[in-house]
Amino acid sequence: MPALILDGVAIARHVYASLKPRIAALVQCGVQPGLAALQIGGNAASRLYVRNKVRACTEIGIYSEVHQLDADCTETAALTMLEQLNRNPRLHGVIVQLPLPPGFDVRRLLQSVAIEKDVDGFNWSNLGGLVDGHGGLKGLTPCTPLGVVTMLDHAGITIEGRHAVVIGRSPSVGKSMALLLINRGATVTVCHSKTPDLTAHAFRADILIAAAGRAGLVTADMIKPGAVVIDIGINRLPDGRLAGDVTFAAACERASWITPVPGGVGPMTVAMLIANTVTAAERTAGLRAPSAVV
Ligand code: NAD
Repeated sequence: MPALILDGVAIARHVYASLKPRIAALVQCGVQPGLAALQIGGNAASRLYVRNKVRACTEIGIYSEVHQLDADCTETAALTMLEQLNRNPRLHGVIVQLPLPPGFDVRRLLQSVAIEKDVDGFNWSNLGGLVDGHGGLKGLTPCTPLGVVTMLDHAGITIEGRHAVVIGRSPSVGKSMALLLINRGATVTVCHSKTPDLTAHAFRADILIAAAGRAGLVTADMIKPGAVVIDIGINRLPDGRLAGDVTFAAACERASWITPVPGGVGPMTVAMLIANTVTAAERTAGLRAPSAVV
């Protein structure tokens, strides 16, 4: 039987519906959640991502600002802008759109976002919360891994006790994904560019998560029959189409559940950014902040 589709657009809609009463409660207290994005330079893809985030804010009633700096601006100018955004009481979330142009110290910029406004969850304090095991409850959890877990929960897919294999070890995606799954009781294998025999590891996965950014990396023979396959990768093919890391059509014949690209993890990442912004606003307002996971 072909795999069931984990529809990120539909699940994100549920997330937004669950956020509406929380936003209404904030507005009743005189607080409209606010999000600012700092974009430096920026290729077409980054601009599109920022536009999608702004649109999501507008649709749900979150105030948003986009600050665009030229690619040749100084790092000091970017840091000064972040200081202003950190101090602005109208804003509860501040993000730096990645990738940055060459020459910028990504770590320095990301660590300059105020911890309580770090709705991307990239500040070391928030990443440390994941290591400590309370990510998603006390800290602000990176949006893509949080979106994946939210999708799994929404579909009723058990995480605890399962063997998850994560391909990719970047701090914001692969490593955070692995930590979140460990915190939820999965046994986790992390594979990366130096892993020999990726196929052997992948084939042992009950939940296989690809976050390498390599189109066609995960082929059907790497998927254990009945595994859940989550494709985080976003790759632009030579013909202009978007594709994930998984060969989708063939993988559908092996997996029990699978995420498409586009329309899978991507919309969930945006929804989790909005959820984290609402959570940050609730904390500022002294309201109880439930976990973003629905
Ligand atoms: P990255 O380049 O920082 O990390 C890629 C990781 O993949 C590295 O850890 C590397 O070791 C591993 N890798 C690369 N080639 C490999 C191979 N052949 N075999 C095994 N491992 C390999 O990228 P990232 O920021 O972690 O993003 C990963 C992918 O996820 C990209 O395609 C990115 O566009 C996508 N992404 C999607 C979303 C979303 O919302 N869907 C969000 C963030 C990132």
